[in-house]
Amino acid sequence: MTEELKRSGHLVVTIGAGPAGIYGVRKLAEAGHEVIVLNRDIKPGGLVEYGIYFNKHKLKEGVRKQFRQILVDPRIHYHGHVQIGEEADLTLGEIGELLAPSAIVVAAGAQGTKALGIPGDHAEGVYHAKDLVYHYNGLPQFSQRDFRIGQRVAIIGVGNVMVDLAHWLVHEKKIGEVIAVARRGPSQRAYTDVEIQAVAANLDQDDLRAELERVRPALEAVGEDLSKTTAELTRHCGLKSKEGESPTRLRFRFLSSPTEVVLNSAGQVEALRVEQTILVERGTSLAARGTGTFVDIPCDTVIFAIGDRVDEKLGLPCTGTEYVRNPHPDPLHPGDEAYQVYDPASGTVQEGLFVIGWSRSASDGVVGKAKLDGERGMAAVNRYLERVVPGTSDPAERLARFRSLLESRGVRAVTYPEVQQLEAHERQVAAEKGIEAFKYATNEEMLTAIGASA
Ligand SMILES: Cc1cc2nc3c(=O)[nH]c(=O)nc-3n(C[C@H](O)[C@H](O)[C@H](O)COP(=O)(O)OP(=O)(O)OC[C@H]3O[C@@H](n4cnc5c(N)ncnc54)[C@H](O)[C@@H]3O)c2cc1C
Repeated sequence: MTEELKRSGHLVVTIGAGPAGIYGVRKLAEAGHEVIVLNRDIKPGGLVEYGIYFNKHKLKEGVRKQFRQILVDPRIHYHGHVQIGEEADLTLGEIGELLAPSAIVVAAGAQGTKALGIPGDHAEGVYHAKDLVYHYNGLPQFSQRDFRIGQRVAIIGVGNVMVDLAHWLVHEKKIGEVIAVARRGPSQRAYTDVEIQAVAANLDQDDLRAELERVRPALEAVGEDLSKTTAELTRHCGLKSKEGESPTRLRFRFLSSPTEVVLNSAGQVEALRVEQTILVERGTSLAARGTGTFVDIPCDTVIFAIGDRVDEKLGLPCTGTEYVRNPHPDPLHPGDEAYQVYDPASGTVQEGLFVIGWSRSASDGVVGKAKLDGERGMAAVNRYLERVVPGTSDPAERLARFRSLLESRGVRAVTYPEVQQLEAHERQVAAEKGIEAFKYATNEEMLTAIGASA
C-alpha cells in the first residue's frame, strides 16, 4: 500500500534550481508543502551543471543523482526555462499576485558580476570569470558567444575559480601564458591544494622563485617563512597532468593591485597596470597597502575572477554585492533573520520573502555549503509557515492558472518529465559517440531533443 503524502495546503514558490534550491525544496516537500520551482535554465543544477569544471564527471553525476531523487516528488513542480526579474518572463510581483504563495524563496545564485571599476575594464578582451565558465560549460547564451582569448591572459584573483580558468586555458586553449595576479601574498591565496593539481605541471618554477625573491622583503616584514611558502607552492609540480602536455606557462604576480587595463590606440588590451603593495595588519588578517609604484604586466586578455554579486534586476533590495537581509534578530527563532529579506526603505521585513545559498551570500563556498544553507533557510521557511494560514484556493488550481499565463505569454516552461527525456536523449548521444557525457549547448537544441523524444 502506498503511503498518503503529507499535504499542508501551503504553496511556496522557489526561484532557482541550483544546489541551494533543490536540496532546500526537499525540506519544504517533506513538510507537506506544494512547491513551484522556477528556473532560468532548462536543466536544473545551477553551477553543478554549468559552473563545476566539465571533466569532473563523477562529482557532477553524483550530485545530479541526488537532485533526480528530489525532483520526482509529486509535491515539487519544476518549471525550467522561466526567468524571473524586472526584464524577464515574470516579475516577483506577478508571482505574488498570480499564485498568492505563502512564501517566495529566492535561490537564484549570484548572477551579477563584480568588477574593480578600473579604466579599460570594459574593453574587448576583458571578461568576467563567470561568463567564461558558463561558456566552456555550455550554458545557452554564453555557449555561443565569441570570447576572444589571446596568448597572454592575466587573471585577477587567486581562488579556485582562477584555477578552473587556468585549467581551461592550459588544457583546452593551450595558450602561451597565464598570469595569476594577487593583491596580497602567496600565503593569502584562496585556491585549494586539490584543485591546483590540474595545472601544477605548468607552473613556471624559475619564474615563481624569481617572483618570491622580488617580494621577499615585504613578506619577511610580516614574518613569512619563504622556504615554507616555496615548498607549498611547488608541492605538486612534479605531477604529470592526466590531460596530457601543454605548452602554457603558469605564472604568479603577488603584491600587485590592478589599477588599469592598458589599451593600445586600437582599443586592444596590451597590459594590466598594477600598483605594487605591501602587507599590513588589519585586525586579525593582513591587508594590501599600495606603495605608489606602478608596473605594467604585458598581456592581451584580462579576466576578473574576484567573485560575483547578486542579480540587481531580480526585484529584491540590494546592498553591496548582496540582497538586504533582516539586520534584527528574529524574536521567535534567532538566526532565522539571516534568511529573511528586509526592505531598508520602510525598515521592515518583507513578509514571506526569503533568500538562500549564493543568493544569500554571494560566491560563498562549495556545493556542500550551498546545500546546508538551502536546508537551513528552508527550515526557517517551514517555521514561518507554521505561523501563517494557507491560502484558501487549491494549490493545484493556482498552478493550472499559472501554467496558462505562461503559455499565453509564449513562455515555453519545461517540466521535470521533459528534463528526464532530455537527459535520456543526451545519454543516448553520449553512448553513440562513445564519450563520457554529452550535452546540448543551446535552448533550441534542447527543446528539439525534448520534442523528438516525446
Ligand atoms: C567556476 C566554479 C567552479 C565551481 N566548482 C566547484 C566544485 O568543483 N565543487 C563544488 O563543490 N563546488 C564548486 N563550485 C561552487 C558551487 O557550484 C556553488 O557552491 C553552488 O552551485 C551554489 O549554489 P546555489 O544554488 O546557491 O546557486 P547556483 O548553483 O548558481 O544556482 C542558481 C540557479 O538559479 C537559476 N536562476 C538564476 N537567476 C534566475 C532568475 N532570474 N530566474 C529564475 N532562475 C534563476 C539558475 O538557472 C540556477 O539554476 C564552483 C563554483 C564556480 C563558480
